[in-house]
Amino acid sequence: MIVAIDGPAGAGKSTVARAVAHALGFTYLDTGALYRTVALAALEKGVDPGDGRALGDLAAATAIEPSGDRVLMGARDVTERIREADVTELVSVISAHPEVRGALLRLQQKAAGSGDIVIEGRDIGTAVAPGAPVKIFLTASPVERAKRRAAQLGLPLDDATLKELTEDLVERDLADATRPSSPLTKAPDATEVDTTDMSRDAVVEAIVARARAAGAGIGR
Ligand code: C5P
Repeated sequence: MIVAIDGPAGAGKSTVARAVAHALGFTYLDTGALYRTVALAALEKGVDPGDGRALGDLAAATAIEPSGDRVLMGARDVTERIREADVTELVSVISAHPEVRGALLRLQQKAAGSGDIVIEGRDIGTAVAPGAPVKIFLTASPVERAKRRAAQLGLPLDDATLKELTEDLVERDLADATRPSSPLTKAPDATEVDTTDMSRDAVVEAIVARARAAGAGIGR
């Protein structure tokens, strides 16, 4: 079974998706990490961010291996490096190219075909796994998302930091939602969960309950 979790930046998708996978005994795929790894490869190789063809070739040629909680690029562990500001700033430009999306779609569909999995991203319910029986669209207010991002990055919760983080998130969401190629959008059959006033555990429980109602864990 595939559990698809999509939503804007900072809505808590990774934390929730990981916990849901753990509770169900499923594997977990963070697709944002794949796009981030291609963005890192582009930075390091000096590939023009506007050159979709070259970036598509780069995405296809880069050995990206999500391995448990870590992400490998070839033999190198890039888990922390791909969260840094230069990669975050570039990733939405890189991910907008259809050639990049095509190269990473193959990798994601391979993972999707491998059994029980929670996949998290922007276009899982719409493009990667449109047939997933459980589709969740996680949202939260921009300020709440900025607060969660600050906590994740270990930054102070002062007004200036929150303002900057909110602007970054909103800018990235706009880029992701307005690109022509598989934009960030809620699948018509996805359930929207506004997590602004919910605890992490309550969100996880709600999704686990949906997955179980859809048959997760039955016959195992
Ligand atoms: O989830 P995360 O914030 O790490 O994703 C980084 C970026 O990767 C997103 O802002 C988006 O540009 C891209 N992405 C995407 N499609 C996905 C997952 C991520 O375009 N399925």
